[in-house]
Amino acid sequence: MKFNTKVIHAGVHPDPSTGAIMTPIFQTSTYVQDSPGEHKGYEYARTQNPTRSVLEENLAALENGNQAICYGSGLAATDAILKLLKPGDEVISTNDLYGGTYRLMQQVFGKYGIKFKFVNLSAGGNVEDHITENTRMVWIETPTNPMLNIIDIKAVAQKLHGKDIIVVADNTFASPYLQNPLDLGADLVVHSATKYLGGHSDVVHGAVISKDKELGDQLRFLQNAVGAVPGPQDCFLILRGIKTLHLRVQRSCENAAKVAAFLQGHKAVSKVYYPGLASHPHHEVAKSQMKDFGGMVSFDLEQNSEEAAVKVLSNTHLFSLAESLGGVESLIGHPASMTHASIPREERMKVGLTDSLIRLSVGVEDADDLIADLDKALGML
Ligand SMILES: *Cc1c(COP(=O)(O)O)cnc(C)c1O
Repeated sequence: MKFNTKVIHAGVHPDPSTGAIMTPIFQTSTYVQDSPGEHKGYEYARTQNPTRSVLEENLAALENGNQAICYGSGLAATDAILKLLKPGDEVISTNDLYGGTYRLMQQVFGKYGIKFKFVNLSAGGNVEDHITENTRMVWIETPTNPMLNIIDIKAVAQKLHGKDIIVVADNTFASPYLQNPLDLGADLVVHSATKYLGGHSDVVHGAVISKDKELGDQLRFLQNAVGAVPGPQDCFLILRGIKTLHLRVQRSCENAAKVAAFLQGHKAVSKVYYPGLASHPHHEVAKSQMKDFGGMVSFDLEQNSEEAAVKVLSNTHLFSLAESLGGVESLIGHPASMTHASIPREERMKVGLTDSLIRLSVGVEDADDLIADLDKALGML
């Protein structure tokens, strides 16, 4: 099955009792057994839920994995992966990753004796320089948030081949439509399904997809043992969102390319970060591992101040000022004070995350209207 067919059909079957074409929302906490231990594969809804099972089968197919395990949020999925580690273990992570992931690693898992090194893994990176005998995991996010650097997943994975190190890729920004990290050598893929997979800004959800059964089984154990499971209604919404994933992401990419080109030509804009631009330092790597360049665009202003950024942010109308990304509607955000406020200022500045940096999640509206909206706001500077 090709990708565009998988989003609609993989793992999905008409409901056997009614023929309903859409997977029902099994809003139940328990299942009746014929006699003790004799049941239909479902005992208690933290452990199994049929709506969730369909979604997990679908997601495993989209990422070409062995199994998918779903959680109540992207961070709950990240938490489960980090719980594969023990005190003394070290993680090498990209240095401009999602702010919530950074916070979880440093402020929560740091307390349990797990060490994190945040390094620049852009393009090929020098991951081998940071490996010690305690390194157990390498955490990749690509494209990165909000600088839109690209990490060469294949190059990093090849350098770790044969070592007892789990390679994790946060594929939230790309979505499985654009990029499949397991095919490039990653062991686990994590998604905040809140973003492109759900796609309609109406649900918080997360998933991990494993290449091998064994690692997947460990996460399956944690899903039940820890219990950060999503509700069936949320699983239904993600399943529904996925059915149009290919259409939405394709349109977002087309719009983002037009918006990036417009910003690049605007005199109030000093820098545009978009991997689809030939001037992007990792454009070639992006071209080799992604089908298109995504719907996220960041840019910096000639007037290098937070006040200037705030002026732009408060004068767009189609681009709504909000956290999050990946929905059908376009969003605009200020990483320094919003998504990345938990990262110390000097750490931010090191990677170019200035006080005037603006991040766009380009939706599926008409590109001309989106450009006119930005043009008007930039004209007020
Ligand atoms: C949003 C996001 C997360 C966290 O997901 P939640 O669903 O908000 O918990 C993790 N990684 C990336 C790249 C994200 O954008």
